[in-house]
Amino acid sequence: MSEFSKLNPIKEPEKVKRLLGMNKHNLTSIESQTRYVLERHLTQMPCPVCHEKCNVYEAADGTKTVGDIYEGEFKCPACEVILVQVVPFFMGAGPGWHWARKHPPTAEERAKLRELHRAKKG
Ligand SMILES: [Zn+2]
Repeated sequence: MSEFSKLNPIKEPEKVKRLLGMNKHNLTSIESQTRYVLERHLTQMPCPVCHEKCNVYEAADGTKTVGDIYEGEFKCPACEVILVQVVPFFMGAGPGWHWARKHPPTAEERAKLRELHRAKKG
């Protein structure tokens, strides 16, 4: 068992710092896997709706741990749209995932977004 198993980046930011700061050569294979996933998921990607950027842990409900299955929902912290993490079949450059919205916008949501855009402009 590594001290980094079940690492929750929202609740344990010091551990995240420590893991990211460790010399790659001193990591066990599990630790380096954890770090690989952590680095990809800490990358902030733009919300498809409001274009504010957030990472996987910020969009999760606070229970998401590195590399474990997460059954909660992802939500944009800025506009609160429900997001899904999309991993393209062909990995290009970048973190290898992006956000997509889970549901098409409702009429209410579209009205809210129009307001948000207006507020930004004004
Ligand atoms: Zn958003």
